[in-house]
Amino acid sequence: MIACTRDCYDTCVFDDNFRPIKSEPTFGFTCSRGNADLRRNESNRLLSPIVHGREASLEEAVREIVRTVKSLRPEEILHVEYDGNQGLLTWYYPARFWNAVGSASTDYSICSSEGHAALKEVWGCSCGAGVEEFRRARAFALWGSNASVSFIHGWHLMKDKYKIVVDVWKSETARKAEKSYVIKPSSDGWLALGVIKVLVSRGYGDLSNVEEPERLKELIDRVTVTDVAEVTGLSEEDIVELAELYHYYEPLTVIGFAIGRTFDGFNSVRLISLIPAVLGLGRWFYYSNTYTLGIDFDYLRGLHLARPSRVVGMAEVGEEVEKGKIKALFVWNSNPVLTLPLGDRIAEAAQEGRLFLAVHDPFVTETVKAASVAIPAPTYLEKHDVVYGYWHDYLVYNEPIRPKKGITEPELMRALAKEYGLTHPLVEEDPWEAVNVALRGTGVTLEELREKKVVKVKRKVPSSRPTAKSVSMPKRPKDGVYLVFSSHPTSTNTQFTEVYGYPKELLTNDYEGSITLMTDFGELTVQVRRSELVPKGVIVAYKPSLKLGLNKIVPPLKGRTGTPPINSTQVELRKP
Ligand code: SF4
Repeated sequence: MIACTRDCYDTCVFDDNFRPIKSEPTFGFTCSRGNADLRRNESNRLLSPIVHGREASLEEAVREIVRTVKSLRPEEILHVEYDGNQGLLTWYYPARFWNAVGSASTDYSICSSEGHAALKEVWGCSCGAGVEEFRRARAFALWGSNASVSFIHGWHLMKDKYKIVVDVWKSETARKAEKSYVIKPSSDGWLALGVIKVLVSRGYGDLSNVEEPERLKELIDRVTVTDVAEVTGLSEEDIVELAELYHYYEPLTVIGFAIGRTFDGFNSVRLISLIPAVLGLGRWFYYSNTYTLGIDFDYLRGLHLARPSRVVGMAEVGEEVEKGKIKALFVWNSNPVLTLPLGDRIAEAAQEGRLFLAVHDPFVTETVKAASVAIPAPTYLEKHDVVYGYWHDYLVYNEPIRPKKGITEPELMRALAKEYGLTHPLVEEDPWEAVNVALRGTGVTLEELREKKVVKVKRKVPSSRPTAKSVSMPKRPKDGVYLVFSSHPTSTNTQFTEVYGYPKELLTNDYEGSITLMTDFGELTVQVRRSELVPKGVIVAYKPSLKLGLNKIVPPLKGRTGTPPINSTQVELRKP
């Protein structure tokens, strides 16, 4: 058995012949990436360590990294990793070395953290619906989620049911839904508040279903449906209709990660999640179930024994590199040159010798191309690991089905520790023992997982009532043109662009040809194509189009808990 480790809702499980298993949670089918994984595994691989542009031995590469680390203050060194591979040993465990030497860490905020924090504030935990609830639901309301593209097994359980989509463009999912509403960027919180107001005023909803209802009452008293229509761009009839549909269908609300990456996204997630509460449906939403399983991620990262010297927002990495505050980056599991705001500054600084950039990756990414030192890593098809999903409840013990190329993340971490002369319980604890401890809260032991390969975890969903204590009035988004990002069926961010390519054009409502996008942080000339699916004031980029270098103009802004609001990137346009 082997589970796909990409940052994806589905976490497909495959048999030993790499066929998607017929049973839950993969139902016998996979996506274009799963279908091409074996082929991709043999292409664009980093096969030898590279040190300052030439092939080198692993020992030399490790020596060069450690020499640099020892020459700098810990707070000048930052490790950058994200969910390029969701394995416990691949993503989490290697941070132990960096925490033990006290280097800086990121805040892991680039994707879902804003929504997790928002839901925790209202519900005590972001835990929501799982596979059983998806089966049971008779309708779905999807906010900022292109699920037919990015969440195909969830979509499999939705597709014969009534679906309502709220998005800023007529996405693939909106086109397949029974009903869709295209709203102005960053106006989701307003719409949610408007829906709650209508539900309450028509007697369909009851504010006493939440703790501190007077707070929510105060907010709905401060808005009119006319205000909501003005901010969202919908008609008043649309808002009433959406509330009526919520009342009639009682849909399971799916909150896409995109919402947390908008201006005021934290508050929008809170307000959207309160719609089912007001309807008396309780925790009838889905966002991400990462924290439902009971895995101790902090233990894996060693935070019980060592802390980073400081935390750098993922929004600010490029900016800090540019300002010279960060002198060394150690990167794995991510491609920050293309995916973080101002990530191009990382490549620029490395090329100019202002930054030591070390990268551990299976593939020759843009970050690898810019690296001072690059070390090959095996893909998920080539190593043992434990994998979890953030939708379904299965843990999977991954066993390699292809020969290993490169050095695994725990092996490299230990090689770095040895060269450094570091003796610390965090690096001395056996990686599998660390996994076993981290799994304690799941009720599954490593031994059981090794024997059964796939084990369903008993989910832990708190029964606490939601609270409106801290929800606030949504902020009014500024008028203007917004660049937004949408999922694409053939890529996970920039992964798989080497197999399937990437869209070279962005979508607009009213212009065709070459156009320059400008922010305070730079400008970029791109090709755009007119599409009736996109409203005025919106430019849609599929995420793999990050290959065009779009992140070089994305401002280093932070949401309430640090997530950059990249789906609210306001741009000025210059047409030739
Ligand atoms: S990217 Fe998602 S849908 Fe595709 S194989 Fe991986 S988990 Fe499955």
